[in-house]
Amino acid sequence: MDKFDDMGIENIDDIDIIEGTPSEEAYEEDTEEIEVVDKDTTDIRLVDALDFNAIDLGLSTPGVVVAETGTKVSRFPVERIKFTTSKKERISIILDKVIIVKSHYVEDMGSILCNGSLCCEQFGLPSVRYLFPIVHYEDTDRRGQLMSAQIELKVLAVGVDNYEELLTIMENKGPLSEFDIVVTCNDEQYQKCSYTEVGEAKWKKSKKARNYISERLKKDGKHITSCIGRTMTDAQIKKELGLDIAPGISDIDMDDIFGE
Ligand SMILES: [Zn+2]
Repeated sequence: MDKFDDMGIENIDDIDIIEGTPSEEAYEEDTEEIEVVDKDTTDIRLVDALDFNAIDLGLSTPGVVVAETGTKVSRFPVERIKFTTSKKERISIILDKVIIVKSHYVEDMGSILCNGSLCCEQFGLPSVRYLFPIVHYEDTDRRGQLMSAQIELKVLAVGVDNYEELLTIMENKGPLSEFDIVVTCNDEQYQKCSYTEVGEAKWKKSKKARNYISERLKKDGKHITSCIGRTMTDAQIKKELGLDIAPGISDIDMDDIFGE
């Protein structure tokens, strides 16, 4: 259980479970306990060194990790948060800037980022997503109350309806980055959610948490749009669509062939 200890789960008792907006004193007391998930995989101890030592697992490759069974890893450097109707999630928007991403969904090609040229000619109008880098409090109860101070950098990607909801909070309460927000999902398929501001952003009170998120952003921030779609050049699109077939036989060649 070394890994879980590192995640700070053993500190559950040190965290006040807060109903609604906590008092100033509550912040002072419990925010020092915020821990971050340790993703430094080199420290993960082999479950059974005897079993694994004899096998070359390629652990020097960043894509290979030995972890306890049950551990899941996202294929994206920054995972897109998905909401379920069975559980509320607690998040905090990191910056007061939004990343607006246009993309096309193309059958057999998947989702590709719009570059404003050939893609729009071929696939029509793009869809628009509004992206926010967020802190996800990963260990909360069904109502979104903190159980332990386990946080991770994720990305919130919303369509215009959810974006409008967030703008309403901003208009009524102030900059979104100042708050923790509890998200209630009303429709899993279309990720329709409602957002409730639940007090100051708790993670910002912890220097360790701020450093962790800042490092993660520095390292993986550039990959934030990868959860929406992949980048494709016009040449790559042409190739996939079969539009790059070499020019046909010229008229001159035809003349030669038919001897005219
Ligand atoms: Zn386009």
